[in-house]
Formats: sequence, C-alpha cells, structure tokens
Amino acid sequence: MPQSLLRAGAALRLSENDAGIGRRYGGWETRMRISIIGTGYVGLVTGVCFAETGNHVICVDNDAEKIKMLKRGEMPIYELGLAELYHHNVEANRLEFTTDLAEAVRAGDLIVIAVGTPGCPDGSVDLDAVWAVTDGIADAMDHHCMVIVKSTVPVGTTEQIKERIAAKTSQTFDIANNPEFLKQGLAIDDFNKPDRVVVGVEREEVGETLRELYRPFLRSGNPIIITDIRTSEMIKYVSNAMLATKISFINEIANLCEVIGTNIDDLRRGVCADKRIGTPFMFPGLGYGGSCFPKDVPGLVHIAEEHGHECRILKAVHEVNVRQPLRMFEKIVSHFGGSIEGRTIAVWGVAYKAGTSDIRLSPSIAVVEKLLDEGASVRLHDPRALSSAKERLGSRATYCEDCYEALKGADALLVGTDWREYRSPDFERIAAMLTSPAIFDGRNIYVARQVRQKGLAYFGVGHALA
Ligand code: NAD
Repeated sequence: MPQSLLRAGAALRLSENDAGIGRRYGGWETRMRISIIGTGYVGLVTGVCFAETGNHVICVDNDAEKIKMLKRGEMPIYELGLAELYHHNVEANRLEFTTDLAEAVRAGDLIVIAVGTPGCPDGSVDLDAVWAVTDGIADAMDHHCMVIVKSTVPVGTTEQIKERIAAKTSQTFDIANNPEFLKQGLAIDDFNKPDRVVVGVEREEVGETLRELYRPFLRSGNPIIITDIRTSEMIKYVSNAMLATKISFINEIANLCEVIGTNIDDLRRGVCADKRIGTPFMFPGLGYGGSCFPKDVPGLVHIAEEHGHECRILKAVHEVNVRQPLRMFEKIVSHFGGSIEGRTIAVWGVAYKAGTSDIRLSPSIAVVEKLLDEGASVRLHDPRALSSAKERLGSRATYCEDCYEALKGADALLVGTDWREYRSPDFERIAAMLTSPAIFDGRNIYVARQVRQKGLAYFGVGHALA
C-alpha cells in the first residue's frame, strides 16, 4: 500500500476510533491488556513491571523451554527483584506465559515486540526474529491494537514493520517505537525509575496512551519524550554509542597511563570531578560486553555507511574495545615469561558485568578463551553466571562454587567481573594459595599498594607497566 494511502487510512481510523481510545488501550478507565513478544531480559522485565502497575500482561516466547521454566516459577535469567515481582503478579492473575503468539496477539491491545536483534559480522543488524513476529502479528490480528517496537532496530525499521503488517491485514492498527534503556544487573530498578521514557509515534493520541501507560514510572518528574518514530529509533543507538564512547575513551587513557607512568585512579578522579564529564561509565577495565553496546556501536556505523557517512569516532570506539581484553591476556603471558602453557589461572567473574548471569560477549570470557587456547587451565567462579559459562566452555574449564576453591592449585588470579563479593577479599589467604602470587585486576577494584603489601604482584588497567 502506498505510504500516502496508509497515512490517510491512519487518520481516518483516528476519527472512527477516537471515542473508544481510552477504553481500547486502557486509558483512564481500564487497565491495559499488554502482550509482550520475546521474554528475554527486556521482555520479561517489561512484563513483570507493567503487570505490577495493574495491567494484564501475557509474555510470549518461541523458546518452549523458557516458557516451561516460567510456568514452573523458575527464572531463566538473574535480575535483582525479578522473582519477587514475577510471583506477586502471577498470584494476582495479572501475568501469564505462552508460546502461542496468535493467542497473545488476539488477547492484547498493546503488542510489544521485544525479540533479540543481534549484530552481523559486517555491523548490520539481524532482523529475522523481528520479521518473524511481524508476520505472526499480522496473521493473528483480529481487532484494533497498537504495535510497539521495543527491540533496538535500525532507523526506518518500525515504519517497515508497519508496512509489512498493513500489507497482510485489513485490521486497523497503530504503530510506535519505544526503545528500552534498562541496564542489566539493575534492570527492575531502571525500568521502575527511568531517567526518561522515549516514544516515537505518528499520532498524538498514541503518544498520550503511552504517556498513561508509563505514568506510574515517572512520578518523580522524569520526562517522557514523544518524538517521531525515526528519531526515537536513533535516540537508542546514539545513547548506547555515547556510553560506549565513554568506556573506550577511559580505557584508551588508561592504556596511555601504562606507558607514560601516570596514575589512572587519581587521574580519573581528577578528571571526573568536573561535572561536565562525570563519573558514570568512566571506569577503566576489560571493555564493554553484553548484548547491546558491542552490536549497537557497529550497528550505528553501518546505518551511517548506508547513508554515505563515515562514523570515525565510533569505529575507533569499537576497535579499542575489541583490543581491551587482549591487553590483559598479554599482561598475564608476560608475567609468566612469555608462555602460559601448563599454568593454571583462577578467574573470579565471567558475567559481562556485575549483577547479571549474562555472559554474552563478556570480555572476561574473551580472556578465558585466549588462556585456554594458549594451553592454560582455568578454574572459574561466578556467583550467578557459572551455569552459562558451563554451557559455553563445557569440559574445557573447571567450575567452582566458592571463589577460594577456584584458587586451589592456581598460579595467579584474574578478576573478570566486579561483583561486590570480590571487593574486599582476604589477600593473605589469596597469597598463600597461589603458587605465583599475582592478581590481574581486570576491573580495577583493588588498591595496588594494599595488594602489594600482602606479598602479591598486582596488575590492573592503567597502572605503570614497569
Ligand atoms: P534476549 O535474547 O534476552 O531475548 C529475546 C527473546 O526473544 C528470547 O527469549 C527469544 O527466545 C525470543 N524470541 C526470538 N524470536 C522469537 C519469536 N519469533 N517469537 C517469540 N519469541 C522470540 O534479548 P534482550 O536482551 O531482551 O534484547 C531484546 C531487544 O532489546 C534487543 O533488540 C536488544 O538490543 C534490546 N535491548 C536490550 C537491553 C539489554 O540490556 N539486554 C537493553 C535495552 C534494549
């Protein structure tokens, strides 16, 4: 259908449906009926939080095992507070789980797409899951509803979703883009108290319905920013690109400190005390990981290239990040005189960051895999991510339920994730257990002087190499 006709149709539908819009989408009169497609980090957190504010939520996933777990009351992921909200809302009959996409589409007034959008090797985005659910929504749609795209998608995708649905159904529907900004590890808290909510819409009334949906989460006065759809899609990419840039910037400076011999810890404090710069995302380490920044930075570079523009800063941000875990690996090899064959390294933390069980593109895992490839043995501990690590590494590594157990028979310790429980360890015990007492602190959680006083060699990120 030509774009102009589609827009004219939307305007016509507005006047037909205006009177019922409050009831149809919930509004003041009834709670909203929400179906969320994709029950991963974003979908599940969104589901429990919308249910908690009184809406009726159905979460759909095509991963039957995941849905079985959720129906049994088991959480497929770890997030602080998730299980409590899940139980509260299932017991209140506000939260359901299914593998039946069509059933969920028929039951919802707001249909939220929250499936994964992984990166491809050339930086483009794999939208296969998005297209699959788009077609499923179109086939099942039997009443007027609003399709909300929460997955991170390249600019123009939400409009393509609209066109694809419109080509397959005679039902009227609205479309919106509503990027998610939660941080894994603090996802529930972030969802409940967002710095801002962004929605991209074509019609003012759609924005107002979403303002109502998010009203309980914005009581402290943080803004809802209502914009056009393409700008909303772009806001998500640019936000992630800026945060990734901060991390790669401070890592670049830390790497420079190593060769110049300046102290990164004092330097960081001195720089970040400037309110224009600030401390968030200015901690040097092994680099960023997870399912977002590593694909969204090349994703934005790729979007730019499609429009004939080269994003030089973002290319460098990505390159610095890919290199960063390897630098720590090289420090370990150098400490052992150029070869780690036959050495045993204890690793504390494999999650890509503290607070999550997620190891996707974890920089700690990148170092572990290099260690294994070069003939070392590794003994892993992680408070939440051990089973994910087992799935990934199988019999190549040893898995320890206690962090000190991981030190048994090890030559040195690598700290890969900044979990709180690693922050104040018994250094004397560590020194006594390691055969070549050295700590490689991939997250700069220790004070070099204190560690060295206990008889351990210390290697952080951004400390003089000499
Ligand atoms: P995820 O991989 O944890 O979850 C995606 C879910 O979608 C999986 O459970 C998968 O089984 C399901 N799925 C895939 N195809 C499906 C289909 N055809 N039908 C039904 N379910 C299907 O992903 P995520 O981390 O929740 O991310 C989802 C989106 O949100 C991505 O676009 C991501 O970039 C974005 N995002 C993620 C975060 C984050 O911190 N994880 C934050 C903001 C935005």
